Amino acid sequence: MSYPDFQNEFSMRCPKCKGTATIDVQALVYVRLLRDGTDTDASGSEEREWNDESAASCACGFQGKVYDFNTSQCETCGKIWNAGEMTNPGTNAVERTAEDDAGHTGECPECGDLCYQLE
Ligand SMILES: [Zn+2]
Ligand SMILES: [Zn+2]
Repeated sequence: MSYPDFQNEFSMRCPKCKGTATIDVQALVYVRLLRDGTDTDASGSEEREWNDESAASCACGFQGKVYDFNTSQCETCGKIWNAGEMTNPGTNAVERTAEDDAGHTGECPECGDLCYQLE
């Protein structure tokens, strides 16, 4: 079983170019209001709020939602798939809670076995 070389800690991959290093996610952040603008660091908040529905884009030009960049791995052949590449996707892909984290997110288009979200 081999994992691809994700260059982000979120196991997210661009569905178009398969790149993992040039993904931008639109997040809600606290900014400190200053006389001449805003400062994201001065607020001292580490919070970066985003979810599967947040806008996301890649330097290659692909634009979509975080959901499109999520990846799952086939438990049998170990292949990595983006959310839109799997057969019968979406079992729990959009609404994930602590309890159904163990659920599969789709089926492998190559061997047909279940795929599970990479975190
Ligand atoms: Zn890309
Ligand atoms: Zn497979």
